Amino acid sequence: MERCPICRAQLGSEDVCRRCHADLGNVRRIVQTSERLAGAALRALAENDGETALRLLRSATALRAEPDIAWLVAKVATKATPTRGTSMLPQGQTADAASQPRS
Ligand SMILES: [Zn+2]
Repeated sequence: MERCPICRAQLGSEDVCRRCHADLGNVRRIVQTSERLAGAALRALAENDGETALRLLRSATALRAEPDIAWLVAKVATKATPTRGTSMLPQGQTADAASQPRS
């Protein structure tokens, strides 16, 4: 979370916004939990466990709706039961590459 969701001020590492003094500690923890769930989902996808990945992705989006996670949910949800040895990641993409932040 780079900006305060209330006043859009740039945030540092502190849990209280320096401009509007909103306590963002709980918000920050929710964002971190969502990111952890999405990361675990990518690991499950890499292991061809689509069912677990979908469950984790849905939990992640319940906490925080992000377009990239919504895209993954749509892709994983439309897959039939994955066959063993078939990656569910986009062709040529590894789980490590998929979990890297975009630049
Ligand atoms: Zn603020």
